[in-house]
Amino acid sequence: MRYAILADIHANLEALDVVLADAEAQKCTHYACLGDIVGYNANPKECLEIVRKLNMPCVKGNHDEYCCSEADLEGFNPHAREAINWTRNHLTADDRQWLKELKYIRLVANFSLVHATMDAPQRWGYVFDKLAAASSFTYQNTNVCFFGHTHVPTAFIRDVALVRGGSYSKFKVESGRKYFVNIGSVGQPRDNNPKCAYGIYDLDEGTIELRRLDYDIPKTQAKIRANGLPERLAERLAHGK
Ligand code: ZN
Repeated sequence: MRYAILADIHANLEALDVVLADAEAQKCTHYACLGDIVGYNANPKECLEIVRKLNMPCVKGNHDEYCCSEADLEGFNPHAREAINWTRNHLTADDRQWLKELKYIRLVANFSLVHATMDAPQRWGYVFDKLAAASSFTYQNTNVCFFGHTHVPTAFIRDVALVRGGSYSKFKVESGRKYFVNIGSVGQPRDNNPKCAYGIYDLDEGTIELRRLDYDIPKTQAKIRANGLPERLAERLAHGK
């Protein structure tokens, strides 16, 4: 089994198409999604349809949660509020219901999926450092768990009590260790690299590989502008942040 692991698609159809074509060329047999299918970019409905059609296991992201509820957006900055309201209006009641029913944590094959953290998945904390990773490891029952939310590809490894972390391109999963792995973002990379990102977990080889790919950024930007979404959302794609 070879899993393509996708996180933070964020309604970026051009990036999603490139990722899926690569996953097929790389002979992936299965898919899994770490949430935040919608939000920020201009194709929420199209991206959601693809994820649903491929029937991939998926967990709920914070944007999925905001966009499927009627909750007040009082505490949000105006750009985020604008983008969430726009997305709400571009999803059907059935789409919103599907998002609403997503779980925070899922077990797939022998690994776990979570959008933010294992210790408090519904609080949307960010795992950027070893301390936050250590808290999450406490609640991780599988050797491997994939997470999203930060949009920064990082692998944390717990060996007995010691937690290490850093960037990676490909590594072997060893028994007796735990791995908490972010495979970057399909739709809005934030590690100063504008290429879209996803991961391949090969369960037979026991390897996790990060894939980075070019996609048509100007096209995604043009759609953001044409739909009157905040300019900053278009700009940031070119810089990968
Ligand atoms: Zn996100």
